[in-house]
Amino acid sequence: CGIVGYVGNDKSVEVLMGGLRRLEYRGYDSAGIAVIDTEGRLDTRKKAGKLQKLADELESNPIANGRTGIGHTRWATHGAPNDTNAHPHLGDGGKLALIHNGIIENFAELKQELIDEDPETVFLSETDSEVAALLVGRAYREAGSLAEALRAVVNRLHGAFTLLVMHEDEPGVVVGARRNSPLVIGLGDGENFLGSDVAAFIEHTHRAMEIGQDQLAIITPDAVTVTDFDGNLVDTTSFEVKWDASAAEKGG
Ligand code: GLU
Repeated sequence: CGIVGYVGNDKSVEVLMGGLRRLEYRGYDSAGIAVIDTEGRLDTRKKAGKLQKLADELESNPIANGRTGIGHTRWATHGAPNDTNAHPHLGDGGKLALIHNGIIENFAELKQELIDEDPETVFLSETDSEVAALLVGRAYREAGSLAEALRAVVNRLHGAFTLLVMHEDEPGVVVGARRNSPLVIGLGDGENFLGSDVAAFIEHTHRAMEIGQDQLAIITPDAVTVTDFDGNLVDTTSFEVKWDASAAEKGG
């Protein structure tokens, strides 16, 4: 339902939690974050219920802050709203994390393909989203780059999706893609953001960039690149977000 991604300084947990708070108005049933910590390891916390539950979990079971992270509030469509079905979902043996807004209509077929290829494949959740996480993980081992891996997978998905992925072997990179579901880039100074809407990063920057239908964005602390699903570079223009903070506080 709500999506935020961040690459920048060692404060990803605060940025992600702040972004998710700003996105709460959309409604949700669970929340979670994944961060590549200072040691370069990917770590995840997720909880059903209000964002405060996730904040409490982070309090009692802290995550080492890092420069790269993704955060999600879920509105369940496939699988009950519980801790396990909450996003992020993992792929590539826990080295890759993925969050998803929307519905992958052909997930059952893709799930079967994963099972046919490896009957031992473990699905921890009942979500359509985890299938995408496992597919991107598999594609990563072949493609060798996160952007290539995500490109290979989005071309096979039907339905509506905003997807964000990150991988331990590419710290400092978040890749996002969208079809029939929104995704915006926030441009910072030595840090960049992705959000399902500008509220996700408005506390940090008012400079934003649209991502078009069937496009993919790669963000690092110093660069953003937008391509189509075939990997061709796309021209982009940034805009200034007009934000009335007082209206936003009232729930606008
Ligand atoms: N279909 C996914 C799920 O049920 C994503 C739902 C959402 O947009 O939050 O987990």
